[in-house]
Amino acid sequence: QSNFNQKIDYVFKVVLIGDSAVGKSQLLARFSRNEFSIESKATIGVEFQTRTLEIDHKTIKAQIWDTAGQERYRAVTSAYYRGAVGAMLVYDITKRQSFDHVARWLEELRGHADKNIALMLIGNKTDLGSLRAVTTEDAKEFAQRENLFFMETSALDSNNVEPSFLTVLTEIYRIVS
Ligand code: GDP
Ligand code: MG
Repeated sequence: QSNFNQKIDYVFKVVLIGDSAVGKSQLLARFSRNEFSIESKATIGVEFQTRTLEIDHKTIKAQIWDTAGQERYRAVTSAYYRGAVGAMLVYDITKRQSFDHVARWLEELRGHADKNIALMLIGNKTDLGSLRAVTTEDAKEFAQRENLFFMETSALDSNNVEPSFLTVLTEIYRIVS
């Protein structure tokens, strides 16, 4: 793939939020580089990854921001949200607490982000179905109530990773175009 002289029509900043260890960094690795690592280290230094794709014959550069482990200290700052047109709020389907915290993340997001931001709830780690602690129905119901898109994914086996990012990016495109 040659990026030489590629004309970019839009750059969309999308932020990943949610509790530590839910799989945000691996979802991003899967989407941006088609990679996954079991021994994922807390991201240090790297602020975002990009991937360029086509939506509706337009060239979109998706700039996906990943928290550098600050979620543990609740120090995700307004700079992180600044300019974001999309957000993916991730929980782990095997960790009830990470789902219970979604409401808190949503509150923080709504306090910092633009009103028109495209929001998606992601239940990650579907490959660990036998350890499931959050039903699809509970999450779906929450998402409907809060007016969020919703999908379950696995960064490990790639289930729904591409469709979930595409859903957010397409919704952003719909909002801005
Ligand atoms: P973050 O703190 O939200 O960025 O979470 P990471 O992406 O660092 O992932 C935390 C741990 O969960 C790592 O050991 C990952 O390998 C693992 N992990 C991430 N996504 C998945 C997934 O879809 N399935 C499984 N089984 N493990 C995952
Ligand atoms: Mg991370």
